[in-house]
Amino acid sequence: MQYHIILTERCNLKCKYCYEKSMQEFDNGLGEKWDYDEDTPFDSEVSIDKLKKFIKPEDRLIFYGGEPLVMVEKIKEIMDNLDCKFGIQTNGILLKRLPIEYIKRIDKMLVSIDGDSERTNFNRGKGVYEIVIKNLKELCSRGYSGEVVVRMTLLFPDLFKQVKHLISLIEEEIINSIHWQIDAGFYKFDFDKEKFSEFVKEYNKNISQLVNWWTNEIRNGKVYLIYPFLGIFNRIIGWDKETKLPCGSGYENFTVTTSGKISSCPIMNSVKKFYCGDIEKGIEKEIHVQDDECEKCLNFKICGGRCLYWRNAKLWSPEGDKLICETIGYLINSIKEKVPEIENLLKKGIVKKEQFEYEKYFGPEIIP
Ligand code: SF4
Ligand code: SF4
Repeated sequence: MQYHIILTERCNLKCKYCYEKSMQEFDNGLGEKWDYDEDTPFDSEVSIDKLKKFIKPEDRLIFYGGEPLVMVEKIKEIMDNLDCKFGIQTNGILLKRLPIEYIKRIDKMLVSIDGDSERTNFNRGKGVYEIVIKNLKELCSRGYSGEVVVRMTLLFPDLFKQVKHLISLIEEEIINSIHWQIDAGFYKFDFDKEKFSEFVKEYNKNISQLVNWWTNEIRNGKVYLIYPFLGIFNRIIGWDKETKLPCGSGYENFTVTTSGKISSCPIMNSVKKFYCGDIEKGIEKEIHVQDDECEKCLNFKICGGRCLYWRNAKLWSPEGDKLICETIGYLINSIKEKVPEIENLLKKGIVKKEQFEYEKYFGPEIIP
Protein backbone atom coordinates (compact mmCIF):
# COMPACT_ATOMS: atom_id res chain seq x y z
CA MET A 1 0.00 0.00 0.00
CA GLN A 2 1.15 3.54 -0.70
CA TYR A 3 0.39 6.22 1.89
CA HIS A 4 0.91 9.94 1.50
CA ILE A 5 1.42 11.66 4.82
CA ILE A 6 0.58 15.36 5.00
CA LEU A 7 3.30 16.81 7.23
CA THR A 8 2.17 20.41 6.91
CA GLU A 9 -0.13 22.62 4.89
CA ARG A 10 2.64 25.25 4.79
CA CYS A 11 4.81 25.85 1.74
CA ASN A 12 7.90 27.94 1.02
CA LEU A 13 6.71 28.85 -2.50
CA LYS A 14 3.60 30.52 -3.93
CA CYS A 15 3.16 28.79 -7.28
CA LYS A 16 0.52 30.20 -9.62
CA TYR A 17 -1.84 27.20 -9.61
CA CYS A 18 -1.42 25.82 -6.11
CA TYR A 19 -1.48 29.04 -4.09
CA GLU A 20 -4.46 30.37 -6.00
CA LYS A 21 -6.30 27.07 -5.51
CA SER A 22 -5.72 27.09 -1.79
CA MET A 23 -7.00 30.66 -1.62
CA GLN A 24 -10.11 30.04 -3.70
CA GLU A 25 -11.27 26.64 -2.54
CA PHE A 26 -13.30 28.02 0.34
CA ASP A 27 -14.97 30.65 -1.84
CA ASN A 28 -16.01 28.44 -4.72
CA GLY A 29 -18.86 26.54 -3.06
CA LEU A 30 -16.91 23.35 -2.32
CA GLY A 31 -16.81 24.28 1.38
CA GLU A 32 -20.58 23.79 1.70
CA LYS A 33 -20.76 20.89 -0.71
CA TRP A 34 -17.99 18.88 0.93
CA ASP A 35 -18.09 19.69 4.62
CA TYR A 36 -14.43 20.50 5.30
CA ASP A 37 -12.99 19.19 8.55
CA GLU A 38 -12.38 22.33 10.62
CA ASP A 39 -10.29 20.35 13.13
CA THR A 40 -7.45 19.68 10.72
CA PRO A 41 -4.24 21.24 12.12
CA PHE A 42 -1.74 23.02 9.86
CA ASP A 43 1.16 20.77 10.93
CA SER A 44 0.98 17.02 11.47
CA GLU A 45 0.01 15.98 14.99
CA VAL A 46 0.18 12.28 14.21
CA SER A 47 2.16 10.43 16.85
CA ILE A 48 5.08 8.22 15.92
CA ASP A 49 3.65 5.35 18.00
CA LYS A 50 0.35 5.34 16.14
CA LEU A 51 2.12 5.64 12.79
CA LYS A 52 4.40 2.74 13.69
CA LYS A 53 1.42 0.51 14.44
CA PHE A 54 -0.39 1.51 11.24
CA ILE A 55 2.37 1.41 8.58
CA LYS A 56 3.67 -2.04 7.61
CA PRO A 57 7.22 -2.78 6.40
CA GLU A 58 5.97 -3.46 2.85
CA ASP A 59 4.15 -0.08 2.66
CA ARG A 60 5.62 3.12 1.28
CA LEU A 61 5.13 6.35 3.21
CA ILE A 62 5.33 9.39 0.93
CA PHE A 63 6.12 12.72 2.61
CA TYR A 64 3.74 15.36 1.31
CA GLY A 65 2.65 18.91 2.12
CA GLY A 66 2.44 21.89 1.58
CA GLU A 67 6.16 21.41 1.26
CA PRO A 68 7.21 18.43 3.40
CA LEU A 69 10.83 19.57 3.75
CA VAL A 70 9.61 22.51 5.83
CA MET A 71 9.15 19.74 8.45
CA VAL A 72 12.58 18.22 8.16
CA GLU A 73 12.82 17.25 11.86
CA LYS A 74 9.50 15.38 11.64
CA ILE A 75 10.78 13.55 8.54
CA LYS A 76 13.92 12.50 10.41
CA GLU A 77 11.91 11.40 13.44
CA ILE A 78 9.61 9.27 11.28
CA MET A 79 12.52 7.74 9.35
CA ASP A 80 14.38 6.99 12.59
CA ASN A 81 11.41 5.05 13.92
CA LEU A 82 9.68 3.38 10.99
CA ASP A 83 10.84 0.42 8.99
CA CYS A 84 9.11 0.82 5.62
CA LYS A 85 9.79 2.24 2.16
CA PHE A 86 9.81 6.02 1.79
CA GLY A 87 8.92 8.54 -0.90
CA ILE A 88 8.60 12.30 -1.07
CA GLN A 89 6.76 14.83 -3.19
CA THR A 90 8.67 18.10 -3.03
CA ASN A 91 9.32 21.36 -4.83
CA GLY A 92 13.04 20.54 -4.52
CA ILE A 93 14.13 23.86 -3.00
CA LEU A 94 14.97 22.58 0.49
CA LEU A 95 16.47 19.21 -0.42
CA LYS A 96 19.77 20.14 1.23
CA ARG A 97 18.04 20.32 4.62
CA LEU A 98 17.70 16.53 4.77
CA PRO A 99 21.03 14.78 5.38
CA ILE A 100 22.15 12.51 2.56
CA GLU A 101 21.88 9.32 4.66
CA TYR A 102 18.12 9.99 4.98
CA ILE A 103 17.71 11.04 1.32
CA LYS A 104 19.32 7.78 0.21
CA ARG A 105 16.58 5.82 2.00
CA ILE A 106 13.91 7.61 -0.07
CA ASP A 107 13.55 5.46 -3.16
CA LYS A 108 10.92 7.55 -5.00
CA MET A 109 11.19 11.30 -5.24
CA LEU A 110 8.62 13.39 -7.11
CA VAL A 111 10.00 16.84 -7.87
CA SER A 112 7.91 19.66 -9.32
CA ILE A 113 9.51 21.16 -12.42
CA ASP A 114 7.18 22.53 -15.09
CA GLY A 115 9.55 22.27 -18.06
CA ASP A 116 12.40 24.59 -18.98
CA SER A 117 13.75 27.43 -16.86
CA GLU A 118 11.48 30.08 -18.39
CA ARG A 119 8.29 28.03 -17.86
CA THR A 120 9.17 26.76 -14.39
CA ASN A 121 10.17 30.18 -13.09
CA PHE A 122 7.05 31.79 -14.61
CA ASN A 123 4.82 29.31 -12.72
CA ARG A 124 6.85 28.81 -9.57
CA GLY A 125 8.97 31.93 -9.00
CA LYS A 126 12.22 33.55 -10.13
CA GLY A 127 15.28 31.30 -9.92
CA VAL A 128 13.34 28.22 -8.75
CA TYR A 129 14.39 26.06 -11.73
CA GLU A 130 18.09 26.82 -11.22
CA ILE A 131 18.01 26.01 -7.49
CA VAL A 132 16.15 22.73 -8.01
CA ILE A 133 18.44 21.54 -10.82
CA LYS A 134 21.51 22.42 -8.75
CA ASN A 135 20.11 20.44 -5.80
CA LEU A 136 19.31 17.43 -8.00
CA LYS A 137 22.79 17.50 -9.58
CA GLU A 138 24.29 17.55 -6.13
CA LEU A 139 22.23 14.53 -5.07
CA CYS A 140 23.50 12.61 -8.12
CA SER A 141 27.09 13.50 -7.34
CA ARG A 142 26.57 12.27 -3.77
CA GLY A 143 25.39 8.88 -4.99
CA TYR A 144 21.58 9.13 -4.84
CA SER A 145 20.23 6.19 -6.83
CA GLY A 146 16.45 6.33 -6.26
CA GLU A 147 13.96 7.30 -8.95
CA VAL A 148 13.51 11.04 -9.55
CA VAL A 149 10.18 11.67 -11.26
CA VAL A 150 9.55 15.15 -12.58
CA ARG A 151 6.02 16.27 -11.91
CA MET A 152 4.90 18.90 -14.37
CA THR A 153 1.81 21.06 -14.05
CA LEU A 154 0.60 22.12 -17.46
CA LEU A 155 -0.84 25.62 -17.77
CA PHE A 156 0.15 25.97 -21.43
CA PRO A 157 -0.29 23.37 -24.19
CA ASP A 158 3.33 23.28 -25.46
CA LEU A 159 3.85 19.83 -23.97
CA PHE A 160 6.27 18.56 -26.63
CA LYS A 161 8.75 21.38 -26.12
CA GLN A 162 8.63 21.09 -22.33
CA VAL A 163 8.86 17.28 -22.20
CA LYS A 164 11.77 17.36 -24.68
CA HIS A 165 13.55 19.70 -22.29
CA LEU A 166 12.98 17.24 -19.45
CA ILE A 167 14.21 14.40 -21.68
CA SER A 168 17.53 16.28 -21.88
CA LEU A 169 17.66 16.05 -18.06
CA ILE A 170 17.10 12.28 -18.33
CA GLU A 171 20.01 12.12 -20.80
CA GLU A 172 22.16 14.00 -18.29
CA GLU A 173 21.06 11.45 -15.64
CA ILE A 174 19.66 14.16 -13.37
CA ILE A 175 16.12 12.72 -13.43
CA ASN A 176 14.61 9.35 -14.45
CA SER A 177 11.01 9.87 -15.48
CA ILE A 178 8.26 12.36 -16.28
CA HIS A 179 4.57 12.86 -15.74
CA TRP A 180 2.22 15.81 -16.06
CA GLN A 181 -1.24 16.96 -15.07
CA ILE A 182 -3.29 19.47 -17.01
CA ASP A 183 -4.15 22.34 -14.70
CA ALA A 184 -7.14 24.01 -16.20
CA GLY A 185 -8.37 25.70 -13.05
CA PHE A 186 -10.83 22.94 -12.11
CA TYR A 187 -11.32 24.68 -8.77
CA LYS A 188 -12.80 27.74 -10.47
CA PHE A 189 -16.15 28.52 -12.07
CA ASP A 190 -14.75 30.68 -14.83
CA PHE A 191 -14.64 28.06 -17.61
CA ASP A 192 -14.02 29.83 -20.92
CA LYS A 193 -15.08 27.54 -23.76
CA GLU A 194 -13.25 29.35 -26.54
CA LYS A 195 -9.98 29.60 -24.63
CA PHE A 196 -10.02 26.03 -23.41
CA SER A 197 -11.05 24.59 -26.83
CA GLU A 198 -7.97 26.26 -28.25
CA PHE A 199 -5.85 24.71 -25.45
CA VAL A 200 -7.27 21.25 -26.22
CA LYS A 201 -6.57 21.60 -29.96
CA GLU A 202 -2.96 22.56 -29.36
CA TYR A 203 -2.45 20.02 -26.55
CA ASN A 204 -3.72 17.17 -28.75
CA LYS A 205 -1.31 18.22 -31.52
CA ASN A 206 1.48 18.06 -28.96
CA ILE A 207 0.34 14.60 -27.81
CA SER A 208 0.62 13.32 -31.41
CA GLN A 209 4.11 14.78 -31.73
CA LEU A 210 5.23 13.29 -28.43
CA VAL A 211 3.72 9.83 -29.02
CA ASN A 212 5.38 9.73 -32.46
CA TRP A 213 8.72 10.72 -30.94
CA TRP A 214 8.34 8.15 -28.11
CA THR A 215 7.54 5.36 -30.59
CA ASN A 216 10.47 6.31 -32.77
CA GLU A 217 12.78 5.92 -29.77
CA ILE A 218 11.21 2.51 -29.06
CA ARG A 219 12.14 1.49 -32.62
CA ASN A 220 15.74 2.17 -31.54
CA GLY A 221 15.33 0.05 -28.41
CA LYS A 222 14.88 2.91 -25.93
CA VAL A 223 11.74 3.30 -23.77
CA TYR A 224 11.57 6.68 -22.05
CA LEU A 225 9.73 6.57 -18.73
CA ILE A 226 6.85 8.91 -19.55
CA TYR A 227 4.25 7.82 -16.99
CA PRO A 228 1.02 8.65 -18.85
CA PHE A 229 2.27 6.63 -21.84
CA LEU A 230 3.51 3.69 -19.76
CA GLY A 231 0.33 3.47 -17.66
CA ILE A 232 -2.00 3.65 -20.65
CA PHE A 233 0.12 1.26 -22.73
CA ASN A 234 0.19 -1.33 -19.90
CA ARG A 235 -3.61 -1.23 -19.62
CA ILE A 236 -4.22 -1.42 -23.38
CA ILE A 237 -1.87 -4.36 -23.86
CA GLY A 238 -3.36 -6.14 -20.82
CA TRP A 239 -0.23 -6.36 -18.64
CA ASP A 240 -2.06 -4.20 -16.12
CA LYS A 241 -5.43 -5.84 -15.40
CA GLU A 242 -6.62 -3.03 -13.13
CA THR A 243 -9.52 -0.95 -14.41
CA LYS A 244 -10.01 1.49 -11.53
CA LEU A 245 -8.43 4.96 -11.10
CA PRO A 246 -4.81 4.64 -12.33
CA CYS A 247 -3.54 6.88 -9.52
CA GLY A 248 -4.78 4.25 -7.05
CA SER A 249 -6.55 6.83 -4.86
CA GLY A 250 -9.15 5.30 -2.59
CA TYR A 251 -8.03 1.67 -2.93
CA GLU A 252 -4.19 1.33 -3.18
CA ASN A 253 -3.12 4.86 -2.34
CA PHE A 254 -4.41 6.62 0.78
CA THR A 255 -3.44 9.76 2.68
CA VAL A 256 -2.74 10.25 6.38
CA THR A 257 -3.96 13.75 7.24
CA THR A 258 -2.38 16.06 9.82
CA SER A 259 -4.98 14.88 12.37
CA GLY A 260 -4.50 11.16 11.63
CA LYS A 261 -7.58 10.61 9.48
CA ILE A 262 -7.21 8.46 6.37
CA SER A 263 -8.35 10.19 3.22
CA SER A 264 -8.68 8.74 -0.27
CA CYS A 265 -6.47 11.41 -1.88
CA PRO A 266 -3.88 14.00 -0.76
CA ILE A 267 -5.67 16.79 -2.62
CA MET A 268 -8.91 16.30 -0.64
CA ASN A 269 -7.22 15.55 2.63
CA SER A 270 -9.55 17.46 4.93
CA VAL A 271 -12.83 16.75 3.16
CA LYS A 272 -15.01 14.51 5.35
CA LYS A 273 -16.76 12.93 2.37
CA PHE A 274 -13.45 11.36 1.29
CA TYR A 275 -12.40 9.96 4.67
CA CYS A 276 -11.90 6.20 4.65
CA GLY A 277 -10.91 5.64 8.31
CA ASP A 278 -8.13 6.74 10.65
CA ILE A 279 -4.74 5.45 11.74
CA GLU A 280 -6.17 3.82 14.87
CA LYS A 281 -9.11 1.98 13.29
CA GLY A 282 -7.44 1.50 9.90
CA ILE A 283 -9.06 1.68 6.47
CA GLU A 284 -12.78 1.05 6.76
CA LYS A 285 -13.87 1.55 3.17
CA GLU A 286 -12.65 2.12 -0.36
CA ILE A 287 -13.77 5.06 -2.47
CA HIS A 288 -14.12 4.89 -6.26
CA VAL A 289 -15.30 7.15 -9.04
CA GLN A 290 -19.05 6.71 -9.44
CA ASP A 291 -20.19 8.69 -12.40
CA ASP A 292 -22.87 7.98 -15.03
CA GLU A 293 -20.82 9.53 -17.84
CA CYS A 294 -17.78 7.42 -16.96
CA GLU A 295 -19.78 4.22 -16.74
CA LYS A 296 -21.09 4.78 -20.27
CA CYS A 297 -17.65 5.73 -21.60
CA LEU A 298 -15.71 3.29 -23.80
CA ASN A 299 -12.44 4.47 -22.22
CA PHE A 300 -13.53 3.84 -18.61
CA LYS A 301 -11.41 0.70 -18.12
CA ILE A 302 -8.26 2.55 -19.14
CA CYS A 303 -9.07 6.00 -17.75
CA GLY A 304 -10.83 4.85 -14.57
CA GLY A 305 -12.63 8.21 -14.35
CA ARG A 306 -9.41 10.31 -14.34
CA CYS A 307 -9.59 11.85 -10.85
CA LEU A 308 -11.78 11.64 -7.75
CA TYR A 309 -11.41 15.37 -7.02
CA TRP A 310 -12.34 16.56 -10.49
CA ARG A 311 -15.17 14.02 -10.97
CA ASN A 312 -16.72 15.02 -7.65
CA ALA A 313 -16.09 18.77 -7.57
CA LYS A 314 -17.80 19.41 -10.90
CA LEU A 315 -17.24 23.15 -10.78
CA TRP A 316 -17.13 23.36 -14.55
CA SER A 317 -20.03 23.09 -16.96
CA PRO A 318 -20.48 19.60 -18.52
CA GLU A 319 -19.10 20.91 -21.83
CA GLY A 320 -15.86 21.85 -20.04
CA ASP A 321 -15.52 18.38 -18.56
CA LYS A 322 -16.22 16.89 -22.01
CA LEU A 323 -13.25 18.79 -23.41
CA ILE A 324 -11.01 17.21 -20.77
CA CYS A 325 -12.42 13.80 -21.70
CA GLU A 326 -11.64 14.64 -25.33
CA THR A 327 -7.94 15.00 -24.41
CA ILE A 328 -8.09 11.64 -22.59
CA GLY A 329 -9.72 9.89 -25.57
CA TYR A 330 -7.17 11.46 -27.90
CA LEU A 331 -4.24 10.31 -25.77
CA ILE A 332 -5.58 6.76 -25.38
CA ASN A 333 -6.23 6.45 -29.13
CA SER A 334 -2.79 7.86 -29.97
CA ILE A 335 -1.15 5.12 -27.87
CA LYS A 336 -3.58 2.45 -29.17
CA GLU A 337 -2.53 3.19 -32.74
CA LYS A 338 1.08 2.38 -31.84
CA VAL A 339 0.38 -0.85 -29.95
CA PRO A 340 0.58 -3.28 -32.94
CA GLU A 341 3.95 -1.87 -33.95
CA ILE A 342 5.29 -1.96 -30.38
CA GLU A 343 4.05 -5.56 -30.01
CA ASN A 344 6.02 -6.40 -33.12
CA LEU A 345 9.15 -4.74 -31.71
CA LEU A 346 8.67 -6.75 -28.51
CA LYS A 347 8.38 -10.00 -30.54
CA LYS A 348 11.56 -9.16 -32.42
CA GLY A 349 13.35 -8.48 -29.11
CA ILE A 350 14.18 -4.87 -30.00
CA VAL A 351 12.58 -3.86 -26.69
CA LYS A 352 11.72 -5.98 -23.65
CA LYS A 353 8.61 -6.07 -21.47
CA GLU A 354 10.70 -4.96 -18.44
CA GLN A 355 11.44 -1.65 -20.15
CA PHE A 356 7.72 -0.76 -19.91
CA GLU A 357 7.43 -1.68 -16.23
CA TYR A 358 6.79 1.02 -13.66
CA GLU A 359 5.74 1.21 -10.05
CA LYS A 360 2.09 2.08 -9.58
CA TYR A 361 0.18 4.32 -7.16
CA PHE A 362 2.99 6.31 -5.53
CA GLY A 363 2.11 9.67 -7.06
CA PRO A 364 2.19 9.85 -10.87
CA GLU A 365 -1.47 10.12 -11.79
CA ILE A 366 -1.22 8.50 -15.28
CA ILE A 367 -4.27 10.23 -16.80
CA PRO A 368 -3.13 13.87 -17.15
S1 SF4 B 1 -12.73 9.83 -20.50
FE1 SF4 B 1 -14.06 11.08 -19.18
S2 SF4 B 1 -16.06 10.05 -19.22
FE2 SF4 B 1 -14.52 8.62 -19.98
S3 SF4 B 1 -13.93 7.43 -18.17
FE3 SF4 B 1 -12.47 9.13 -18.39
S4 SF4 B 1 -13.28 10.77 -17.13
FE4 SF4 B 1 -14.94 9.29 -17.43
S1 SF4 C 1 -5.72 12.07 -9.93
FE1 SF4 C 1 -7.21 13.04 -8.55
S2 SF4 C 1 -7.82 11.40 -7.15
FE2 SF4 C 1 -5.88 10.80 -8.07
S3 SF4 C 1 -4.29 11.57 -6.69
FE3 SF4 C 1 -4.58 13.14 -8.25
S4 SF4 C 1 -6.08 14.54 -7.34
FE4 SF4 C 1 -6.20 12.62 -6.15
